[in-house]
Amino acid sequence: MSERRVRVRFAPSPTGPLHIGGVRTALYNYLFARQHGGDLIFRIEDTDSNRFVEGAEDYILESFKWLGIQFDEGVSFGGKYGPYRQSERRDIYKKYVQVLLDNGKAYIAFDTPEELEAKRNEIANFQYDATTRLQMRNSLTLPKEEVDALIATGKQYVVRFKIQPGEEILVNDLIRGEVRINSSILDDKVLYKSVDQLPTYHLANIVDDHLMEVSHVIRGEEWLPSAPLHVLLYRAFGWESTMPQFAHLPLLLKPVGNGKLSKRDGDKLGFPVFPLEWHDPKSGEVSSGYREKGYLPQAVINFLALLGWNPGNDQEILSMDELIRYFDLSRCSKSGAKFDYQKGIWFNHEYLLAQDDKAWVPSFDALLRAQGITSTPEKEAQVVAMMKQKVVEYTDAEGNKKKRPVSFVSDLWPLCNFFFIAPQTYSLEDKFVRKNWKETTAAEMKQLASILEGLEDFSIESQRAAVDAWVAESGVKPWNAWRVCLVGTGQGPDMHELSAFLGKEETLARINRAIHALG
Ligand code: GLU
Repeated sequence: MSERRVRVRFAPSPTGPLHIGGVRTALYNYLFARQHGGDLIFRIEDTDSNRFVEGAEDYILESFKWLGIQFDEGVSFGGKYGPYRQSERRDIYKKYVQVLLDNGKAYIAFDTPEELEAKRNEIANFQYDATTRLQMRNSLTLPKEEVDALIATGKQYVVRFKIQPGEEILVNDLIRGEVRINSSILDDKVLYKSVDQLPTYHLANIVDDHLMEVSHVIRGEEWLPSAPLHVLLYRAFGWESTMPQFAHLPLLLKPVGNGKLSKRDGDKLGFPVFPLEWHDPKSGEVSSGYREKGYLPQAVINFLALLGWNPGNDQEILSMDELIRYFDLSRCSKSGAKFDYQKGIWFNHEYLLAQDDKAWVPSFDALLRAQGITSTPEKEAQVVAMMKQKVVEYTDAEGNKKKRPVSFVSDLWPLCNFFFIAPQTYSLEDKFVRKNWKETTAAEMKQLASILEGLEDFSIESQRAAVDAWVAESGVKPWNAWRVCLVGTGQGPDMHELSAFLGKEETLARINRAIHALG
């Protein structure tokens, strides 16, 4: 058993955009597969045609491409266990449903929705199981000829799992330990529906995990209640010896308050719950995504990896390779993980700043273009270098003004527009201007302008030498007023850096305009 090849799967249903919790599930599967030199399968569980959403499958694939989570086989990747889309595996499921019918582990039921409803009204807490199944219209109560005749006339039916009451079921979960329940509490689950000739989730999931030789089922906690039924299905097929090991991951919880993280929490507090922006094909509603919000994929990976797992020390910045090395299902927590989205912003800050300045340029350039500004990659990288360590003001979801270090490329814009756009007005209304523009300032700025004008070489070093000499000799402290001239307020980098960036002509023009405006 221990020699078994590690094969895990991520098996989403294409019912909409992939929730961030699903991304974490896929990530843990990926880490586990890579660590063990195993395979990661991408399976599409689309047997519920009512919930099918156009575009969801492509969206999911694009999300993983962006995040750098690679699959070894599955839909769009190929592999020898295919097809990997459940809607293309009808014949396989039919065969296995027949196996259960033939060995008496399942039966055919004809009860209409109206009949079921009537039973529910008649019996309190009605459940289709060993205590009630003999009162219903199914192949256990009808003569074989009638069953065959009904099927022959096209009467719709379902196949139900015949659960034996009173059996102890043990689910051995790698995260939760031993979970025991008694089979008497389970109902005779529908495994197959004639109406669309498709199995339900439970049957398709078990058959596929078996045929695809899945060794470990790592999935969200919401599937834990299905696990006992799945164990019984493995038993019914006689597949116990190759049953996968289960690991049910803790829930992602709301950042504040109690309960499961929802899209509404994201909308309220201003963070995405989807990896990519999603345009709902029916409602037209647009939901924000981590990619479009300016997160780096590695930051999202690092952030998600630590929601429900830790490496056993306080290292927080972990590369994909390190995550693969350290990941350990036994260090996943049983209790839910609060979705601390502020921490996600912090991770983005860390990953952004660890990048080369040049790596910021494509997004920064796009940002400038959106403002109608064209510049060069060199100039843009220079601005990044000057401004990336700054603190930016932002408004939180409650409308409070707060500060944080630059955490997104877009944070740069309010910090650096003056590099590209000259101040439009100079006003003593501005506190910084009022404080730093005195009676003697205009004269001092004229002197500064004439010193700068005289420079052949307008580099930072050359300016510094000339200005420092004048400062030493005159005792004038020109820095804040100089800033007023070039920026219009109390923002920006070192004045020599800014002047060198703007160049002599623009620097002098701005100084002269300020003198004119402020007098
Ligand atoms: N199709 C299920 C989902 O959408 C898969 C659950 C499982 O991994 O067994 O999450």
